[in-house]
Amino acid sequence: MKRVKFIVLTIVILIFSACSIISTQRHTQVTDLLTLSIKSVGWAASELELETLKFMQALKLTALNDMRAEDLQLRFELLWSRVEVLSVGEETHQFRSRPGAMELLLNFKQFLVEVEPELLSIKIGDESAMRVVQDLKIFQTQVRKFNVNSFSGDQALGNLEQIQSIENNSKFYLLGLLLSGSILIFLVIRESSVNRKQALHDSLTGLANRYFFQKNLKKSIFYSRRNNSRAAVHIIGMNGFKEVNDRLGHAVGDQLLQEVASRLALSVCLPDTVARLGGDVFGIIQNNITNADESVQLAKHIHEQINCEINVHGYQIYPDVSIGISVYPGDAVHYDKLLNNADTAMYCAKKNDDTYYRLFEQEMNDSVLRYRILVESLQAALNHDQLQQVYQPIICLKTKRIVLVEALLRWHHEKYGYISPLEVVSIAEKAGLAEKLNEWVLLKACSQNMAWRKAGLPLIQVSVNISPAMYTRYDLVTTVSRTLSITGLPADQLVIEVTEDTTMQDIDRSPDILQNLRRLGVELALDDFGTGYSSLSHLKNMPFQKLKIDKVFIQELNNLPKDISFIRTIINLAHGLGMQVVAEGIEVIENYEDLYLEGCEYGQGYLFYKPVPHHEIECILRESLSALEPSDYNAYVSY
Ligand code: C2E
Ligand code: MG
Ligand code: MG
Repeated sequence: MKRVKFIVLTIVILIFSACSIISTQRHTQVTDLLTLSIKSVGWAASELELETLKFMQALKLTALNDMRAEDLQLRFELLWSRVEVLSVGEETHQFRSRPGAMELLLNFKQFLVEVEPELLSIKIGDESAMRVVQDLKIFQTQVRKFNVNSFSGDQALGNLEQIQSIENNSKFYLLGLLLSGSILIFLVIRESSVNRKQALHDSLTGLANRYFFQKNLKKSIFYSRRNNSRAAVHIIGMNGFKEVNDRLGHAVGDQLLQEVASRLALSVCLPDTVARLGGDVFGIIQNNITNADESVQLAKHIHEQINCEINVHGYQIYPDVSIGISVYPGDAVHYDKLLNNADTAMYCAKKNDDTYYRLFEQEMNDSVLRYRILVESLQAALNHDQLQQVYQPIICLKTKRIVLVEALLRWHHEKYGYISPLEVVSIAEKAGLAEKLNEWVLLKACSQNMAWRKAGLPLIQVSVNISPAMYTRYDLVTTVSRTLSITGLPADQLVIEVTEDTTMQDIDRSPDILQNLRRLGVELALDDFGTGYSSLSHLKNMPFQKLKIDKVFIQELNNLPKDISFIRTIINLAHGLGMQVVAEGIEVIENYEDLYLEGCEYGQGYLFYKPVPHHEIECILRESLSALEPSDYNAYVSY
């Protein structure tokens, strides 16, 4: 397209230039012709005639006794020099080239030569001066003829005809000049309006860009101030865009952004502004609102519009967004602050799992700053292997032996101290770091287990918690299989823990993901059972080997012993579905006894062990080894 534009522009410029050059040449030709007849001939002839007339007048005055001889002499010399210039002068050759001109000049000169001695003898009042006047008249008449002919004679008419035909021909070039000039002006205006549009719009989505958005926001603030109304700024950040881009490629990412942009544009009415502020962040200026509720309504509408399936290059994608809102003038009066506040609110919405939109509140600034710092630090921690993993033993309630350790994440931040694993996971999921984090967790746990095995410690399984994004958005099966082959850990020594809610996030794919994991040989545990949302029919179809009762139910047993019937029901349900039961959060001996009596197979809790670093697990395992009877030993350790 650019090439075609360039070629068209070049052709138009060439036509314009050619027409300009030719028109100028024509103009020069006309000027030359006019100069030829008027300036070079007419003007020269009239000068000569004038000088002749002046000399004749001087002669008459001399005869009338009214002029001095020196003045007559001066006039004679001037006439002489005029004739001389016309006879030999460089610029007067046009005159000489006229038929009869050279002859006239020669005769005139001859006459002047002859009359000169007579002139010297003429005295004041001398009547003979009048005779010279008579002789001169012949020359004056001839010179006049040249003058008149230069304007009206054949030569002049010929020139005029030539000028006329040049002018007639020039019309064509003038038309070309006019047309190409108009096209050029049109192209320049069009180009500048395209440039203006490009300077104000985002090239991928066609929406306003950040600069235009800020400009319009300033205007909105101005009008709102004048009309005493309110305006809201919505910052809309896409969740999980980075993953789509990384996993499915930039073409899919771009098309997703375009689709979201057009859905956003359809969500608002004029004169509201929709813009792409950069990357996966969009902005809307909502004008003329009377209260913040109207902006909440728009946020809900936007979410509804965006949060439905998009088919991009054959992939089904459900775009998800978090929306931050700040309202003029309540939240800020300056456009910059208004934007910042909406941005802060958007980060809070992102951080918060319960809602997709947030109205700005002053207290948000600190928590958003903390969030942003944590995102950056987590990225760095993952890149530099600065996270820690601790391990909490899970014991067989019957034998009290450790059968499994659960790998749990630990992160100490230099500024904010201990960051709970749940927060780390949530940050990673929102900041597009879920895949990296889960890979790290899996690799760390599997290699640690291998290290214990190689150290000759009793064989135990290791269980790893998988975050929802890893389960739903990434290829968990490939990651697990790769980790097993890198570390060499036998698949049946790894337990993958997923929560009910995680499996429910992708009901359609869940059975396949879990079955594929089972095919690898790993065990599956349903974590935090009872706290999430799942249906029994869903549970029935899932190939879990272990069901972990959440600690809240175990801890309720301390206060409400009658709740044992609830636990009993869960245990029976799990056994009915062919699963073993792990009770989490056992803190007191009574819980242990109750659970054991109810047939619960495994237990995890502070009553037995707290989560500890790997070297402490080593000590614990060594101690358990030395406590074994020699007959048990071989069954327990077989690496
Ligand atoms: P979870 O998977 O249910 O892990 C058990 C949690 O219960 C752990 O908390 C553990 O320290 C705690 N716990 C165990 N026994 C007791 C007890 O007797 N009393 C009390 N009060 N608590 C007990 P933690 O380490 O804070 O982990 C919290 C949650 O964070 C985990 O719950 C899990 O959902 C998540 N998490 C931890 N590490 C990871 C990880 O590496 N990846 C992922 N995706 N999530 C993780
Ligand atoms: Mg767990
Ligand atoms: Mg749990």
